[in-house]
Amino acid sequence: MRGKTYVYFNGKTEYIGTGGEEQTAYPLGSLVFGTLDVDWEPYLEQARALRRAYTGVDFGETCTMPQRLSEPETCVYYQVAEFYHNMSLSVKTVSPAFFDLLEGYCLAVWRAYDQESEPYLEALASGVNDTGLSRSEVHQRLIHLGNQAITGNIMEGYCRSFPAYTEQMKYYIEWETEDRSLCETALLVLDYFINFLKKISAFQKDLRALIGVTLCGKDGRPLSAPSARLLKLAENDGELYGRCSRMLDDVHIKLQQYIPEGIKKGGVAAATFYASDNLPALVFLEFQQMCALDLRAARCENCGRLFLPFSSRTKYCDRVCDEDTGASCKEVAAREKYAAQVKADRARQLYQQLRNKYQMRCARAQGNAKMREDYNKWRDTAQKAMVKYQVGEMSFEQFAECIQIP
Ligand SMILES: [Zn+2]
Repeated sequence: MRGKTYVYFNGKTEYIGTGGEEQTAYPLGSLVFGTLDVDWEPYLEQARALRRAYTGVDFGETCTMPQRLSEPETCVYYQVAEFYHNMSLSVKTVSPAFFDLLEGYCLAVWRAYDQESEPYLEALASGVNDTGLSRSEVHQRLIHLGNQAITGNIMEGYCRSFPAYTEQMKYYIEWETEDRSLCETALLVLDYFINFLKKISAFQKDLRALIGVTLCGKDGRPLSAPSARLLKLAENDGELYGRCSRMLDDVHIKLQQYIPEGIKKGGVAAATFYASDNLPALVFLEFQQMCALDLRAARCENCGRLFLPFSSRTKYCDRVCDEDTGASCKEVAAREKYAAQVKADRARQLYQQLRNKYQMRCARAQGNAKMREDYNKWRDTAQKAMVKYQVGEMSFEQFAECIQIP
């Protein structure tokens, strides 16, 4: 499972690991929400346009890194690193959990060359050559893979540190290294990104459809018994469910030891780890887990995105929706409600003040039918004006002008 992205679930918590010792805990649903919240389509279009621009381009044998980098707009590894940098930054802002998954995926892409060269290295080291190639071909292959491993490594560093150069890259630039194979590797990496983006944008649509029949209804409120709904969907084996569940063939399942949170040193437990380079497959697993636990998912009445409400009365999510103040949907909704209340109160106060005044005038002129009639007319107009003001069709000044007593 080395170099692979994995997740495991523990109740309403999930853990995401990217191959190393470290793993991060997130609330269950983080990957599903991340998949839905990121706008993948523009990135796919951008990546495809970039690919088209370099299709059939001959990178030449003699161009060096400093030469190529002096014209960033035509330098493919600059462009690819910039693309990844922008995409990963916006994924990180929207969904830290999905960002972890993405970094893990890219790690696997960049380090695939290391793994690919293992059998050839083994053949040379052990003398047992079952690669089907001659010794000199094995040697050539290793040189090629070694080259790709180096350039893959440069790409990985550059994507992460963009726009700065890594220390390693600075040496290669200083040595005026020829960059043909770096250009080719950049295109390979771009192809991996395109492949990923294609999968995730297609899956985003499927996921929306799946959620619509299991977790959250058209009205944005939680559906009852998602687990029963999911089972029904699986039994009827519709096209949608079939397509998604087939992705699970790409998932490796392994029972592994882990150290549970909050358990004293030495405490170990076993968990089922799911590893895959097919990221939508891992997200689909998480979705199934959410249904299995009968989680209640609702649509936020402010931003329209899916979230797990604290109670049946909760209508707004905790996502930051006002970048300037850092306020969440919940806070913004509360603030707007208060502002609307204050606004309504101000108008009502003025209206009541004038009405009392007018009523006193009528009371002093007992029996004056004309005045009484005028008062009733005024009251009707004033009440209509108040509605207009409250829905924003009238400013407060216009409202005050409109309800003056004759
Ligand atoms: Zn919201």
